[in-house]
Amino acid sequence: MHNINTELEKIIHDMRRIILNAGIELVSKGLVAGTWGNISARIGKSSWIAITPSGRDYLTMQEEDIVIVDQGCSRILGNLNPSSEMPLHIAIYKARPEIDAIVHTHSTFASVCAVAGRDIPPIIEDLVQIVGGSVRVAEYGFPGTDVLAENAVKGLADKQAVLLANHGMIGCGSTISEAMMVCELVEKAASIYLYAQQLGGAKELAADDVLRMREFYLKHYRLQRGE
Ligand SMILES: [Zn+2]
Repeated sequence: MHNINTELEKIIHDMRRIILNAGIELVSKGLVAGTWGNISARIGKSSWIAITPSGRDYLTMQEEDIVIVDQGCSRILGNLNPSSEMPLHIAIYKARPEIDAIVHTHSTFASVCAVAGRDIPPIIEDLVQIVGGSVRVAEYGFPGTDVLAENAVKGLADKQAVLLANHGMIGCGSTISEAMMVCELVEKAASIYLYAQQLGGAKELAADDVLRMREFYLKHYRLQRGE
């Protein structure tokens, strides 16, 4: 049995509520269909992670359906199986200590780039501020495998988003709301990229400007974002 004190219990309860609401938002914004995609977050300063269960509808999901796991993939709380993409989430938390929340979607335009094997270049300001530049396509890995997890971490590098070849995308943040925003902005940028290509080609922002905008976001804007 694990020792869960009142303070930890409250953190777990609050995080499960936040994840439930984010799941409903994923469906209402059209970023996932059915039970696809998944959401996770670190539980405060502990090494535990809250993650959506495998194969459950977001609209009928209950608080206790959100599974609590440790970083060795063992279940701490919850009767359901965690998302089959748990290794992917855990690999990112291990590689990036500053990331506290991860949202994985199968949104349409991001998937278009992912199946075409085309990185989303640094073409629009909101994207480069929140993601940190271009969004790379990670090498293909079969769903649920360590290969997918390793490739995703490599593709992500120091950014906040990565496309998964022939699969979908991942958005990361210091909060669930930031990770959700990353997913929305990557989807928007992917659609802008596609339309711009029809008009003769998207023009990239200068590398210096990308860096300045990213620094500005991290220094000023990010600190003002709350959960
Ligand atoms: Zn997926």
